[in-house]
Amino acid sequence: MRFPIDHDMHCHTHLSLCSNDPQQSVASILSFAKAHGYTLQCITDHLWDSLVPGASGFYRPQDIEHVRQSLPLPKDDRVRMVFGCETEYCGGDRLALDPRSYDKFDFIVVPPNHYHMIGLVRPADRDSEEKIADLLVERLEQLSRIDLPWHKVGIAHMTCSLIFKEGDQYRVYELVDEKRFRAVMRRFARLGAGIEINLSCFTDGWRAHEDAMLRLYRLAGEEGCKFYLASDAHHPDELNVVPERAPEVIALLGLTKEDQFLLE
Ligand SMILES: [Zn+2]
Ligand SMILES: [Zn+2]
Repeated sequence: MRFPIDHDMHCHTHLSLCSNDPQQSVASILSFAKAHGYTLQCITDHLWDSLVPGASGFYRPQDIEHVRQSLPLPKDDRVRMVFGCETEYCGGDRLALDPRSYDKFDFIVVPPNHYHMIGLVRPADRDSEEKIADLLVERLEQLSRIDLPWHKVGIAHMTCSLIFKEGDQYRVYELVDEKRFRAVMRRFARLGAGIEINLSCFTDGWRAHEDAMLRLYRLAGEEGCKFYLASDAHHPDELNVVPERAPEVIALLGLTKEDQFLLE
């Protein structure tokens, strides 16, 4: 059976400071989901838990109290609305969500590569495609050693232009060490985490870099990882990327229903 295009598990509302778009309301996100026959829609605003020290100026106002303004989420007969978050990860045990807060979210998206945040997420001396590729694997390895409720954790946008804004993101994916990457994906598969296919990253012209762009997902799939779809929309017109781009990406990856990450 084909991989269902009936969910969006990473999506921002106006509460995320980088959205700040009054049109990007939970109601408008739900109405898009209904119109496209979704069964699941997650709300995942940016979050830095105030129990965790070290928030940047961008993150400090985006605490749990802030993102909880979306609650209660509307109930719908067909679309399951899930309250989640996109937290931050700075390496080691530095996750921007405290263990005491895990229960407050039904889905936790962890980005391994917000490397545009130099200083906070990426050390300034990681400044070449080689060093960024190593950093990505290192961060995934370190993250996999944290005791997280993995059945409700998604690894966000492994391919994302933010990984190396001043360099060649495609070269980074090619340089990721296959043996180490396979090992960490095997571990995520065993832990039960989801791997995100973030359609906002598949921008115009990506097919010119098809092998590089799909490489990490192919390896993850071969190691038994499960996948979910995401728009990462910050504005209503960005919700479209799932129905528009997912069919092509799924077909190229050869994903089927058995490859889907299912949230309990
Ligand atoms: Zn992100
Ligand atoms: Zn996001």
